[in-house]
Amino acid sequence: KPDFAAKLAARLGAPINRRTVHAVDDASFAIHQREVVGLVGESGCGKSTLGRIVAGIDDPTEGRILYRGQDVAHASGEATRKFHLKIQMIFQDPLDSLNPRYRIGKSVSEAARYHKVVPEEQMAEHIEKVLLQCGVDPTTQNRFPHQFSGGQRQRIGIARALALRPDLVVCDEAVASLDVSIQAQIINLFMDLRDEYDLAYLFVSHDIGVVRHISDRVVVMYLGRIVEQGTTAELFAKPNHPYTQALLSEVPSLKRRHSSFHTIKGEIPSPLKPPSGCHFHPRCPHAMERCKLERPMLKAVASGHMSACHLNDEG
Ligand code: SF4
Ligand code: MG
Repeated sequence: KPDFAAKLAARLGAPINRRTVHAVDDASFAIHQREVVGLVGESGCGKSTLGRIVAGIDDPTEGRILYRGQDVAHASGEATRKFHLKIQMIFQDPLDSLNPRYRIGKSVSEAARYHKVVPEEQMAEHIEKVLLQCGVDPTTQNRFPHQFSGGQRQRIGIARALALRPDLVVCDEAVASLDVSIQAQIINLFMDLRDEYDLAYLFVSHDIGVVRHISDRVVVMYLGRIVEQGTTAELFAKPNHPYTQALLSEVPSLKRRHSSFHTIKGEIPSPLKPPSGCHFHPRCPHAMERCKLERPMLKAVASGHMSACHLNDEG
């Protein structure tokens, strides 16, 4: 994605040939109705980019995004409009999605009104119901975002997304900046909304503890590639990929769930110049000669469990 490449170059202070950066490289996975898929990896691994692509905010340079069987990445008109409504994104800082100069009632209803989610005469009632469901007092609709706490603002952000009646909500570090007790409340809200609306979530997070708690399946990314995916139970019980094993070994208990991943041996290589073969080989304790030369592909290691590691061929 060119503007991602430019931003990355600015952040790294490096000159860059735009064509050479693949923030996300050949990432294929599915999300089913009512399913919570956790997407984990170190910062800079491309998980936010992948989340933005799924949400239709960024376009993939190649590949398809299928929504109920229809390719919406390269569609226009009605299919794209419907896709944008049905897949909503929630960010770490709700101020990113709430206009500070709008009263929150306007922020929550604006897109729903534009897309005529319900007839205008039912809109006030619709918004009131959505706010109540998200734990926001509807009588505060004429206040501005800065008059609310961080947790309340996140609830308002969720209400704004929910007002569009989405099927899938992409949450990018949606609870990362909240206190632990507020995090738990927001996570409970996500789960209540799933039950109520059959919502699915793509839960992008660096926080393995939270992901384990809420996800049905987990997708692990490393330097733009999916290295492992499986059901949460299977992946945590039998992590296959050495990178996943390293990630999980750093989170021995929920008490330490805020630990980040930087205790894995070695620096994260630059995504501008990822290592050859298996991107993880410079940090992998099991790296073999072959790992430097040949890219491992995702292969089934158990039912519904895939991993991209040459060790699986070695027996
Ligand atoms: Fe390690 Fe090789 Fe497996 Fe990569 S393919 S994770 S370097 S053993
Ligand atoms: Mg991110």
